[in-house]
Amino acid sequence: MGNAVVGDRSYRMYIDGKWVEAVSGATYDLPNPATEETFATAPDAGREDMQRAIRAARRSFDEGPWVQTTPRERSRILERIADRLEARKEEFRQVLVSAHACEYLTHTVNVDLPIDLLRNYAALALKFPFEEPLPHAISKLAPVPTLVSSMVHRQPVGVCGLIPTWNFPLFVTVQKLGPVIATGCTAVCKPSPYGPLIDLLLAEVVEECGVPPGVWNVVCGQAPELGAELVSSPLVDKISFTGSVATGKKVMAAAGATLKRVHLELGGKSAQIILDDWELDSAAPIAASPTFFHAGQGCAITTRVLIQKKRHDELVEKMIRFIENVVTVGDPSDPTKMLGPVIREERRQSIEQYIALGREQGAELVTGGGRPKDLPVGYFVEPTVFAHVKNDMRIAREEIFGPVVSVIPFEDEADAIRIANDSAFGLSGGILTHDAATGVAMAKKIRTGSVGIAGANNLLHAPFGGFKESGIGRESGEFGLHEFTEIQAISWPG
Ligand code: NAD
Repeated sequence: MGNAVVGDRSYRMYIDGKWVEAVSGATYDLPNPATEETFATAPDAGREDMQRAIRAARRSFDEGPWVQTTPRERSRILERIADRLEARKEEFRQVLVSAHACEYLTHTVNVDLPIDLLRNYAALALKFPFEEPLPHAISKLAPVPTLVSSMVHRQPVGVCGLIPTWNFPLFVTVQKLGPVIATGCTAVCKPSPYGPLIDLLLAEVVEECGVPPGVWNVVCGQAPELGAELVSSPLVDKISFTGSVATGKKVMAAAGATLKRVHLELGGKSAQIILDDWELDSAAPIAASPTFFHAGQGCAITTRVLIQKKRHDELVEKMIRFIENVVTVGDPSDPTKMLGPVIREERRQSIEQYIALGREQGAELVTGGGRPKDLPVGYFVEPTVFAHVKNDMRIAREEIFGPVVSVIPFEDEADAIRIANDSAFGLSGGILTHDAATGVAMAKKIRTGSVGIAGANNLLHAPFGGFKESGIGRESGEFGLHEFTEIQAISWPG
């Protein structure tokens, strides 16, 4: 047991290099969503705790040894963090299962991918263009025209307020931690009230790997005001937020008061378009994946399935058969279960309201829609499919964040593109075709931050982020590092 965990599953926060309780001494319970029993307790921080962390991050950015570190030193730190995570993988996995209901199927994204991402950020720190020469120019402002040399210097953006979320907690935080360390920023991380434990364990790893006190701080608590405090602080230079569109809008508005840099990774209502050359037997499990992959609690999950009218019924039939015969529902600590519970009771109720709304608005509920009869305990929702959905129904327009998928018929490819784009969101999407050239040509007409053809994705190097209300900015790879720098121009005679 490390510093984050004291006694039996009672966690502490990490502020200014110290493991602390909330100043008020308050704590709160975190349930295991599959058993509804308390899994752990965490500090319930308030304003004073947050202010201490912000001041520590500011001090260590302005005065600490951190700004003097070289990209090579920071790259080594990232490598060490990746190594330690690798060594403690099982511990993280257990918390992900018990506190976040992460099913075995999600472990690659939840545990293995973050380690790869950290190694990639370590490599990028070495080749990132922190200093880039510009072409010579004649200075027109000097009394006598002078030849000048210039360069772009990319400085760390400063103190970063990080607000990650709970659904893929290690992945989401690592997408912020990697660039913070690589570029030499400092940070206060405010995890989701639903699940700060992974962030607290990660802080322990960060400490073990030689990151100086004050560079990385984690403050956890239940109140939304805690995040708001971070966003409004004049001592914070940038906010990187992952969460819902509604909160993202509040963050952006509040950050405007101090003109902070804002990076928003928000929700989605992505479309999977199935073209005619793709056989329905293999389309069905892909189309049904939102009903089981982390209970549909993923921003980029394709919750709208677009299929040509004449093949709609056959696809739906195959999706139902797949769900009935293959999708197993139960406690995610059992690796044979594909679909676990959703994160909290209030989220289950919101999903159930959407299911009721889908029926009211005339969508055809073809499977699921209720709570599994054999699982009276835990926040379970049956894998649910709506067929014959119209794109103007609310279940097709709003993010449900549960194991619910909408199948929408289209006339032809142009109609499919029109439906895919007819959304306030613009995060992700997919095209099932064996013809990559057709897929790429179609993808270019889709207004989303990423499109995967034939199920392909590149979460390691490709930029990830949203068009429209799905966000502002990009994570991953070099694109992710740019978000954490400020551009400075330096010129000198000669
Ligand atoms: P949420 O918006 O309810 O909460 C996010 C965080 O914001 C929480 O930590 C909360 O305490 C905090 N918060 C609340 N009010 C605040 C305020 N006024 N100022 C600052 N912070 C405040 O979202 P959630 O339920 O935690 O996450 C689910 C959402 O995240 C979904 O919409 C999902 O699509 C999205 N998501 C996006 C990505 C992505 O990369 N685009 C990845 C994962 C999840």
